[in-house]
Amino acid sequence: MATLLTPDQTASARSFVEVFKAGQRVCLTTHVNPDGDGLGSEVGLLHLLRARGVHAFITNPSPTPERYHFLFADLPGADRTAEAVKELRRADLIVVLDISDVGRLGMLSAAVKDSGVPVACIDHHVSAGHLPGGPRYVNPDASATGELVFEIAQANGWPLGISAARALYVAILTDTGAFRFSNTRPHVLRVAASLLEVGIDPEQIYLEVYANAPEGRARLLAESLQTLVVEPEHGLAWVTVPPGALERLNVSSDDLDGIVEFPRSIVGVRMALLFREIAAGRVKVSLRSVGAVDVAAFAKPFGGGGHTKAAGLSLEGSISEVQARVLTAARAFLNGDGSR
Ligand code: AMP
Ligand code: MN
Ligand code: MN
Repeated sequence: MATLLTPDQTASARSFVEVFKAGQRVCLTTHVNPDGDGLGSEVGLLHLLRARGVHAFITNPSPTPERYHFLFADLPGADRTAEAVKELRRADLIVVLDISDVGRLGMLSAAVKDSGVPVACIDHHVSAGHLPGGPRYVNPDASATGELVFEIAQANGWPLGISAARALYVAILTDTGAFRFSNTRPHVLRVAASLLEVGIDPEQIYLEVYANAPEGRARLLAESLQTLVVEPEHGLAWVTVPPGALERLNVSSDDLDGIVEFPRSIVGVRMALLFREIAAGRVKVSLRSVGAVDVAAFAKPFGGGGHTKAAGLSLEGSISEVQARVLTAARAFLNGDGSR
């Protein structure tokens, strides 16, 4: 296959992998509430490393959502999330994927920070956070961390089997909003084409990821959309997940994925928000933008982050307190040029 990489990408992907040695125990981890990119890039890398004799395991701060279980069908025992702290203590090396900040590792933050082993990182977020030392393969222009794992494989001549290709396709599919968002660039479509050439089945993957939902996911969408508020004068729209809805409908936070696209889909909206209580007195806000509005910049003063068009933050307070604070700031932000 012709290379899709620049000479610089090839060189940095080659030096990145020097840290991996056959026989080592390596833990792969990603952000709290892992998504398709976090999990897909981990599973893709896990297959690649195991093929080189590395004892790789996945140790995440939160359990794998049901819809991604199919990625582990041929990997019994590889997802050690339930024993993450114990596994991290035994690791010779840790790889953090799809984040660059220990703070986003939730209950594993301390175990990674104090591990004393090198912490490698593969990521595409704009905001560089704090991580212990180790090699980096980071590019904010990448659509997904899965795209970067593909580059590492290609630069090093590591062949991709069906399972690894499927996992990396899931990573790219989910982070590009199924090839709809502005990060759907020529390079990522070429990478996706290479993955299809390995022989994966895109319809089967679509069915697993998007059409295998519990009934509660549709009901959660319905209840959340009932709360829609639109302020056309500010280009603002938001929804609020009714407190307790996830438990009552027997769904998980993963089932919220995509709901914020509905307020974003309304004509004239420049910033869409989804509010939800993640614990008593703590509220998470998902942010999406249209056009030049930079929601990562908006999130930063609140301690949040992400990408220009998709970011998040979480704050202490009741839903109504957090809404008052964040919406006031959003109106002011949108009345300025929105891209400070
Ligand atoms: P989400 O709204 O959870 O789908 O997240 C959208 C983007 O924002 C992802 O790239 C996340 O990594 C990032 N993000 C979400 N929540 C936070 C947070 N509390 N702090 C920093 N980044 C976040
Ligand atoms: Mn992610
Ligand atoms: Mn990602």
